[in-house]
Amino acid sequence: MDEPGHSGGCACGAVRIEASGEPYRVGLCHCLTCRKRHAAPFSAFAVFPRERVRFGGGEIAAFRSSGTGQRHFCRACGSPLFYAEDGSDEIELYLGSFDEPSRWMPTYEAWDQRREAWLPDLPTVTHRYEENRTGTGRTET
Ligand SMILES: [Zn+2]
Ligand SMILES: [Zn+2]
Repeated sequence: MDEPGHSGGCACGAVRIEASGEPYRVGLCHCLTCRKRHAAPFSAFAVFPRERVRFGGGEIAAFRSSGTGQRHFCRACGSPLFYAEDGSDEIELYLGSFDEPSRWMPTYEAWDQRREAWLPDLPTVTHRYEENRTGTGRTET
């Protein structure tokens, strides 16, 4: 495969991430769990086919953040690494994990009702969902 590789990792460097190809979709989430999990006003993520993502190095731990999925993190430094729904062939990586900024732009936002009032409208976003994303396709344009 000659797909472009995208490298990332956790804050302490113990866990490395390699994703190949392009994500299905890129978005932001303002939900309560994302806010608390990232200790940030929102999370920014890129959804990849699970088979296109490899992890190396340190130990990855997880906690069940809802009835339908788990959030995974570096055991050593606590950095969030990915979210995966049970049984899904997709995996959510976080834009902040990648070594290179500005690789992708978000095209949608979830949990708009919890969005910080000071955030401006984002020019690349075409859809804001009141709660969870309701689109069922893999892409979001
Ligand atoms: Zn780490
Ligand atoms: Zn969320």
